[in-house]
Amino acid sequence: MVTAPELYFHAKKIFECNQIESASFEAMCIIEHVFGKKLASLLLEKTTASEEQKNTVNNLAYRRISGYPLQYLLGKWEFFGLPFYVGEGVLIPRQDTETLVETVLKIKLPENPKILDLCSGSGCIAVTLALNLKNAEVTAVEISDKAVEYIKKNAKLNDSEINIVMGNVLSGETAKMFSGIDVIVCNPPYLTADDMKALQKEVTFEPETALFGGNDGLDFYKSITKIWRDCLKSGGVLAYEIGMGQESDVKKMLEENNFTNIEMTKDLSGIIRVVRGEKI
Ligand code: GLN
Repeated sequence: MVTAPELYFHAKKIFECNQIESASFEAMCIIEHVFGKKLASLLLEKTTASEEQKNTVNNLAYRRISGYPLQYLLGKWEFFGLPFYVGEGVLIPRQDTETLVETVLKIKLPENPKILDLCSGSGCIAVTLALNLKNAEVTAVEISDKAVEYIKKNAKLNDSEINIVMGNVLSGETAKMFSGIDVIVCNPPYLTADDMKALQKEVTFEPETALFGGNDGLDFYKSITKIWRDCLKSGGVLAYEIGMGQESDVKKMLEENNFTNIEMTKDLSGIIRVVRGEKI
């Protein structure tokens, strides 16, 4: 008979031996996921594990050391204090992206603002904004049908009402559907061709379409800034998440397209992560 604490220490050891950086944390996530209880009480109660629980923990631990992302194994991940379903086909919400949400929450908005989240992915930005801005009308735009399913599930999970539009953000046809928008927020694919060659193993399981931003990583900024400008109200804000070092290129694109009051915000690691501008 094996207990939950034994399985926890076993998983932790496997992770340590396989250079998983946060071995204790990841082992804890897996044990809590399998047993549906906090590790602290499992340790205290010395809960016994069924054969099935034992096999599931071992299975997850071995998939994890093959490089498969922890977040996909768990099927859920937290963003801005809220739970989101994740899995193959959507980018895993990153903490960096919370900087983008915070930037939008600081904008002085009218009573019932209209907000668009382009390249919505799991919907984490759209859902978080909808929940934090009670009178906002938030629309998520996403091209992938797999991701759209996640957006629907995540809106439901968080009891948030958002609109979902399936469409290509690089097409003027999609943009034509919208006008009078107060804020456009977007975390587009922004990795360069070189970045794509040097991906961390875990990231290779995430959709390439959510990562690769063309040779220089800037394709989406170039197109979106031009195509979506007309959807914004005068004074409306376009806020982008960017990759490390992309700020001057993105700032230039905003200036060339008549955006003003351009501001940049650093993430928690001190990297400029958000560039935003106002439509003149
Ligand atoms: N931030 C992601 C990463 O570091 C990239 C996601 C994106 O291109 N928006 O892998």
